[in-house]
Amino acid sequence: MSALYIYFLLTALLVAEISCRGFQVKNQAKQLFLSRRVVTDSGEFDGGVLVDEDGIISGIYTRETLKGLKFDGATVQVIDGGDWALMAGVVDSHVHVNEPGRTSWEGYVTATRAAAAGGITTLVDMPLNSFPPTTTLENLKIKAAVAREEVYIDVAFWGGMIPGNEIELQNMIEAGVIGFKGYLIDSGITEFPNVEKDELDNIFSILNGSDVTMAFHTELPISAGNDTQCENCEVPDPNLYSTYLASHPPEMELNAASLLASYIPKYDVHVHVVHVSAAGVIPILEAAREERIKAGSKRWRGGVTAETCHHYLTFSSEQIPPGHTEFKCSPPIRNISNKLQLWEYIKERRIDLIASDHSPSVATMKGPNFMSAWGGIASVQFGLSLFWTEAKARGLSLSTVSHYLSAGPAHLCGLQNRKGTIQPGLDADLVFFDPEASFVVTPEIIFYKNKLSPYMYRVLTGKVMKTYVRGQLVYTDGAVYEKPQGQLLINDKVLFN
Ligand SMILES: [Zn+2]
Repeated sequence: MSALYIYFLLTALLVAEISCRGFQVKNQAKQLFLSRRVVTDSGEFDGGVLVDEDGIISGIYTRETLKGLKFDGATVQVIDGGDWALMAGVVDSHVHVNEPGRTSWEGYVTATRAAAAGGITTLVDMPLNSFPPTTTLENLKIKAAVAREEVYIDVAFWGGMIPGNEIELQNMIEAGVIGFKGYLIDSGITEFPNVEKDELDNIFSILNGSDVTMAFHTELPISAGNDTQCENCEVPDPNLYSTYLASHPPEMELNAASLLASYIPKYDVHVHVVHVSAAGVIPILEAAREERIKAGSKRWRGGVTAETCHHYLTFSSEQIPPGHTEFKCSPPIRNISNKLQLWEYIKERRIDLIASDHSPSVATMKGPNFMSAWGGIASVQFGLSLFWTEAKARGLSLSTVSHYLSAGPAHLCGLQNRKGTIQPGLDADLVFFDPEASFVVTPEIIFYKNKLSPYMYRVLTGKVMKTYVRGQLVYTDGAVYEKPQGQLLINDKVLFN
């Protein structure tokens, strides 16, 4: 078959594809995704990505090398995105799905449909605030049994580390959790108590040498100081954001990061700090990483990593109006100079990944003021556009977006050989993204359960046009495919026997 004939065949199929809107059925053929902007975490090129019948990327081609492609009579479906960027699907390593147990807050159907609409092809569920929490193998089984029928994208799981569940950790590793999340301060959830300082040595020693990650909510409580002695002081106004911010100073994060850093030379475990808000955490972790690497660690990033979240990169505390508790999260959004410092670290590639920390609740829990409201921001559907809105304004590239939203989190989760970039052999988790389009966040377009968001009515740059999980179309034209096609990234033999 001549190259010219192939070209005509591809063109004919392209016309067929464009004229056929809606969802395809399960792949029957190879697929060739074309784009003027194929984005990897290291650059962009004009070309195509070939996907085999099993939804695995089998080849990457420039526009020039595409002309020499031969298919020996096989049917190839061509999907041409034109000027839309073709990117690896986003891996969101920090999502609270809350099912089972708190399904009025969120659930697998709504969270994964929202994720699909946002270009996320894999999310990792946090061990709280579901009930029961994911702190035992039995509880993980309960969660996985619920999730397996309901996920529209691929889903992996964090286990939880709480006082007294050390005996469960190995069982959960065998079941396929990517790591364990623990708190160093009250989590706000009764059944998920924090790990005390004197328990850390024990947990580190249990996980020493393992491949899983220890992730921490990195804040330590601080003492109330002398304020309690003050008789004529004004009571701070709980409706002001500054009151909440003052109750969670950066020192809480810095002290906790220093505490964790003190364990890093003693144990060979990947330590990850979730949702860094205080920029000063980053140099503390860098020093610990440097020591580890000097000592010969071969782990990714020396096994010391940090994430920050879209809300810390989008907002600053000065902007938050009184009473607007939809902005409350923990740790808090800090001032503008802190936000700018986080962006400097991003430009210098000194942060490892960005996650949503999608942590929704019912509306009644977001009141009545900043001190009593639930601390969590819902945003899983908008991460890619949120990050691009800010990154584009700062002159950063789409490959930087892929680096932070796809490749970085895939590495954290140990999924780098399967997810997170456009590379032969990896799952064809792909997104067509229009980097020039813009849209307004409105309740009508939100797929997650509780339509609350600090981003409401904000104009975002960059729009997810189509999302594919393992080559299967799961989102297009504002609609999510009607049937869940996601997989659980766990050990089925342990969990379903
Ligand atoms: Zn969280």
